[in-house]
Amino acid sequence: MKLDLPTLSAVFVQITAVLGLLLLFSWTLNRKVQALAWWGSAFLLILTAIGLVVFQEGKPTTFILLVANSSLALAYGVLYTGCRVFNGRQPTWLSIMAGVGLWCVAFLMILNDTAARLAIMSGIGAVYAGLSAWELWRHARQRLASQLIAIFLLTGLVVFNIFRGVSGFSLAHAFWVEGYTQRGSAQMAMLLATFMPTLAFVFLSMAKEQIEYDHKHAALIDALTGIANRRAFFEASNALLAKRAGPVSCLLFDLDNFKGVNDRFGHEVGDHVLVIFGRVLADHLPRGIFGRLGGEEFAAMVPLGAAEAQDLAETIRHSFSSVGKIVLGQRVEVTVSVGCVTATQSSVQHLLRQADAALYRAKAGGRNLVATFSGAES
Ligand code: GH3
Ligand code: MG
Ligand code: MG
Repeated sequence: MKLDLPTLSAVFVQITAVLGLLLLFSWTLNRKVQALAWWGSAFLLILTAIGLVVFQEGKPTTFILLVANSSLALAYGVLYTGCRVFNGRQPTWLSIMAGVGLWCVAFLMILNDTAARLAIMSGIGAVYAGLSAWELWRHARQRLASQLIAIFLLTGLVVFNIFRGVSGFSLAHAFWVEGYTQRGSAQMAMLLATFMPTLAFVFLSMAKEQIEYDHKHAALIDALTGIANRRAFFEASNALLAKRAGPVSCLLFDLDNFKGVNDRFGHEVGDHVLVIFGRVLADHLPRGIFGRLGGEEFAAMVPLGAAEAQDLAETIRHSFSSVGKIVLGQRVEVTVSVGCVTATQSSVQHLLRQADAALYRAKAGGRNLVATFSGAES
């Protein structure tokens, strides 16, 4: 098969332009995923870099070499910054401009050394691609399948750049600057023409997956306290009950005289008390199943026997009564009552009903108490 480099380069430029614009267009549809704007801009910078060289007649001038490679170095910086922003981290001027700065300084010193120019640019590309892969791996907000593919592709880009830099030293030519008639260079241009759409597709998939994740997350999290909501609590509890053969305990919590807290101190203080109770649960049940069922009612489902569950309930009750003494500078002195039940092979609804019966006894007994379901309630 005969590969025609000028044609491939023109195709590459067109594809990159379309992809860059598509990424920017997707960003206008999903402004929350700002990384799309960064990645779209990176594609347009790559287009500028390659386009300048492809569409100029003859050997590139010094000016073209400087501008084209600066655009490419900037493109890498912007691409990496997109990965940071995707993970919810701040863009920094250093991360964007370091490559361009390095290139401009190096260019003054190695103006006429093609191999050295190529090595520097490949080095900048390899470092940025490596940083991007590391960023997506190390600082991932959540494990997305498409993010792993992006890491794989970016690692491939590191290998490609290293190969390019090393072969540039030995062959003393740059495939897209002076090697237009080289068959090997055309193959590389084809490789890139395949790589760019793949990378853009993966970036778009990452954005789509992140939006879906955020929606799913929002549907399972209680907006005020940040802990699991009723739906998430039921889902996790059902899963625990389905797989566990041993005893499971259900703890139902209801804050005491909470209406009075709102009435005396205002809703803001009331809301803050709810947040504090969510934190107490999270502190005592790291990675455990607990959630806000609604209002001032919370529940936990733990793989513990009756005695241990009662101890846990006592610890949480005690802990809350100490942190609930003073809230937002007000002497609130709020407490919680707890109903506990332990069973093997039961359903969430059934356990909650029994825990509620026990809770009723705790309230009747004077509040700020833990009561265990005995069977006599029903
Ligand atoms: P008991 O000790 O018997 O449980 O009394 P209580 O006052 O806690 O119970 P009641 O059911 O009478 O009142 C619950 C209150 O919880 C009423 C409601 O205004 C308040 N509440 C429910 N959801 C929220 C919320 O999101 N924020 C605030 N600040 N208050 C809430
Ligand atoms: Mg209540
Ligand atoms: Mg209450």
